[in-house]
Amino acid sequence: MTYTFAELDKWDKDYVWHPFTQMKTYRQERPLIIERGNGSYLYDIEGNRYLDGYSSLWVNVHGHNHPELNQALTDQAAHIAHSTLLGAANVPSILLAKKLVELTPAGLDKVFYSDSGSTSVEIALKMAYQYWKLKDAERYADKNKFISLREAYHGDTIGSVSVGGMDTFHTIFKPLLFERIEMPAPYTYRMTADNDPETCKVHCLTELEAILREHHEEIAGLIIEPLVQGAAGMLTAPDGFLHGVRELCTRYHVLMIADEVAVGFGRTGTLFACEQENVKPDLMCIAKGLTAGYLPLAATLTTDDVYSAFLGEPHELKTFFHGHTYTGNQLACAVALKNIELLERDGLIETLPEKIEFLTQRLAAFRDLTHVGDVRQRGMMIGIELVRDRAAKEVFPPSLGVEHRVILHARQNGAIIRPLGPVIVLMPILAMSIDELDELLTITYEAIKTVTIEAGQTI
Ligand code: PMP
Repeated sequence: MTYTFAELDKWDKDYVWHPFTQMKTYRQERPLIIERGNGSYLYDIEGNRYLDGYSSLWVNVHGHNHPELNQALTDQAAHIAHSTLLGAANVPSILLAKKLVELTPAGLDKVFYSDSGSTSVEIALKMAYQYWKLKDAERYADKNKFISLREAYHGDTIGSVSVGGMDTFHTIFKPLLFERIEMPAPYTYRMTADNDPETCKVHCLTELEAILREHHEEIAGLIIEPLVQGAAGMLTAPDGFLHGVRELCTRYHVLMIADEVAVGFGRTGTLFACEQENVKPDLMCIAKGLTAGYLPLAATLTTDDVYSAFLGEPHELKTFFHGHTYTGNQLACAVALKNIELLERDGLIETLPEKIEFLTQRLAAFRDLTHVGDVRQRGMMIGIELVRDRAAKEVFPPSLGVEHRVILHARQNGAIIRPLGPVIVLMPILAMSIDELDELLTITYEAIKTVTIEAGQTI
């Protein structure tokens, strides 16, 4: 059955409520209705082709419509789509857990499955909290809080919102949330006059130590997005910051939770971001790239120490009472296994340094644009912060909708990208060729240049 564009446009606006979207604005615009994908490109229902500059929300690894991933999915579907992990096991989830333990930082030995980044964070928070209660309920009675960073984003469920630090998304929900202690985010551009990462790092770690010295007996864990705070606008952490956080968590007996939902699976240039500073977290959350962008699957990994605290007789109530219906879904686990097999076989991670270097060189030109305040890059994660006035680091008035106009300009010229506040974000598919990356940057550069110059003249 086929439908006209007009019908789909109407039904989309009549029935679908889109995430993170002001529907009043959305309903006034012509929708982008994606029908198929191939490699680095997405195609809308009218046959227009776009480079996927956001990896279909930071998930795609090997490109769209990959024959071997498709095959893994259909092969598994021919066996079984889903059975439960409650009181039963299944082959793909066993094999995947073994593989994840081998690939993630040493010491992470157990895998708890869920189905989104947010749920993997919920699980990490609940595990960390319960861990201390199981270890010694009396001694650790006050360990009920979490530290997270200013501008932190860990998902949209209530627990993950509780550890969020973004005013726009999180403030309204405050009355519903549990207590969090905030440490500064290493937002070098806005925190230092001369964009000096070292000053920023020392400031943030000193503040963290002060918090821990005073409050460590109340703190169950610290959660952090390693190397890059993605949703905050690609805030790239200074070298050594993550390592410093790990050291302080160890010194003050606080569990460290690494939220690798966005940065995992090659995004920062290594399979996991923690590797770059040889950091071993106590818990680690992964999702997004785990199935290469095919299916919803997430996992929370933890140490034998945390896992062992939950062992006991049924009546002791040490069990981790948590589990989603689709936990360990066989289709998703089978595709995740194939994703990892392809990563290893094709050496995709080994191809990244050349691409990252290419991006770095091409991004230099963006810095010269009148309305670009900062360009941040860590591996294949890029944030270009737009400003009305570079000297004052002042952003454009939101009413001008500059970032949205940049995105529409890029779309007209064949690339899909997204803004995060005043930051234009590029998250290219890891398998993109250098030529495709070049095309993406050319389209983005033109869009930023044209729209910001025009906007600059109107105010
Ligand atoms: N943590 C981080 C660091 C993220 O970037 C995201 C999603 N962008 C999440 C958690 C939440 O993941 P999901 O949208 O799959 O719930």
